[in-house]
Formats: sequence, structure tokens, C-alpha cells
Amino acid sequence: MKTSILKTFLLILTVSLLLLVSQSGCKHPAVKVADPSYAMWFKVKNIADHVWAIDEQGIANFYLVEGSDTALLIDNGTGAVNVRDFIASLTSLPLVVVNTHGHPDHGGANYQFPTVYAHPADFSLLADCNTSEHRWEMERNMLRGKTIPAEIRFTDTLHPRQTVLKPVREGYIFNLGNRKLEVIEVPGHTAGSICLLDAQHKMLFSGDNNNTFERMSGTSCEPLETYLKSLQHLTTFTKEFDTIYPGHGKPIDKAFIGEEISCIEDILHDSGQLKPYYTPSGENAGFICTYKRASVVYNKANLWIKK
Ligand SMILES: [Zn+2]
Repeated sequence: MKTSILKTFLLILTVSLLLLVSQSGCKHPAVKVADPSYAMWFKVKNIADHVWAIDEQGIANFYLVEGSDTALLIDNGTGAVNVRDFIASLTSLPLVVVNTHGHPDHGGANYQFPTVYAHPADFSLLADCNTSEHRWEMERNMLRGKTIPAEIRFTDTLHPRQTVLKPVREGYIFNLGNRKLEVIEVPGHTAGSICLLDAQHKMLFSGDNNNTFERMSGTSCEPLETYLKSLQHLTTFTKEFDTIYPGHGKPIDKAFIGEEISCIEDILHDSGQLKPYYTPSGENAGFICTYKRASVVYNKANLWIKK
């Protein structure tokens, strides 16, 4: 008698478990394969479950993160090709787009999307880099004459450049269903730079905040002291991530932030070597300091926050 009760109980348990597994399977989107027409333009890498890193011609990386209900596109490249259709070939979920900062190699395709989230301190940079004049400039300079095949160009002229920018600030949560990404403000590389933290999966998407070759000499850069404060702020989150996924270069472990901080401290306290930096075309573009894996290009006139 006891054996038959046990058998019935085990049968009910097995059926319940099977139902649960099949239901959660339905909730999760099927993994799609990118449209092969874009293979000559983007290198796509499935870096984690439902997360893709997209390398555009070695210029910059952007990322697609799929939850159970929504997908999040973190940056979108130069905008030279049809990013909107390319992303639609990777995910069928409703898409939310966010910019880590306002530079044209990261938010250059904003004009292809009706709404984009970003930090309001970079709204004017983003508006500037989505004018048609700027995009022509981008094609000429950054793509260095590479030919873009007609089939992957963005040709929808029905809704040209009417993108609405929506503000996000520290602590804002992108809720994708079964995963959440939190905004961390990291002003420095630009005033409106943000990182996106997926604490559950221990991933940090850092835009241009944690590149091994960090350009801090541009006109849109904040003082190095501001950048140092942002890096220190980021260290308060280090229990919540293991790997940093940057806007340029390869993923790197979180210990790298300590090396960046040491590099900046060397510059600010004059203990680093004063070494001029020249661009590949031979132009002088400030100074460079290196500490272990971190190299920072900086402008001597923009070190300290003006009191
Ligand atoms: Zn940048």
C-alpha cells in the first residue's frame, strides 16, 4: 500500500517538474542566427547565454542582451549600415536601445530607432553625431573608404532622424523580464558616461569607461579628477560583477579598475612619466601614461575639477 502511494507521489512530482521545465522553456526566446548578409560588416560573438558582442569593423563593440520579455541593445555602432534590421535578425523580442555615452562610434545608429535611452548630460553630443553631415564625415574618416554593400545600407527615409532621447540616471533599472540591468553613472570619458550592471550574471557593460587604451584628451572629456572619482565609485560595485565588457577591445577582469586608478593617480600626482602621445597619423594628441594593462591619454590642461 505504502509503495503504491510513493509511486503515485513520484509520478505527480515528475509530471509537475516536466510541466515547469516546458513552461520556462516557452518563456525563453529561441536563439537566432544573425542574417549572413551582415557577416562582412559585423563580427558577432555569443559571449554568454542570450548575450552577444558585436564588433563593427574593429572600430567599436556593442552588445545585445536578451531577457525573457525584452532585449536591450547597448550602443549601436557608427550607423553606417542597417543596424535595426541586423538586430531584428538576432532577436524577435521588443527592443530597448541605450547609449553608454554620446560618441559617434557608439550612438551613431540612433537615427534608426524611434527611442533611445541615454544620460541627459550627453544628449547634445548624441544630437550632433546623428546629423546627416556628421554621418557623412563618419563614413569618410572612420570607415576609411570601405565600401558598404547596398543590401546592408539603411535606406528607410520615411522617419529620418526623429529619435526621441529618454533620460536615465544612477540606479535606473532596465527590466528585461528574467534579467535586470542597472545604470551606474561614471562621468569622465564624457559627462554622461554610464555603465550597465547585470549583477545576476556578474557582467558589467562599460562603454568607454574601462578601455585598456583610454582616451581622456578629447574636448568632450571631463577632468581626470572626475574620472578618478567615477572609477572609485565603480569599485563600490565590484562584488556584483566579475567581467567587464568594454566598448573597445576584449573583455577584461574587474581587477583592471585598480590598475586604471593607479594610472590616473600617477598622472595627477606627477609620479608618471610625462610622455607625449602621437596618433597613428603622427599628430600630437596630449600625453600618455601606462600602468600595467591601463594606458590613459590625457590633456595636461584638464586634470583637476575647476573649483
Ligand atoms: Zn567614446
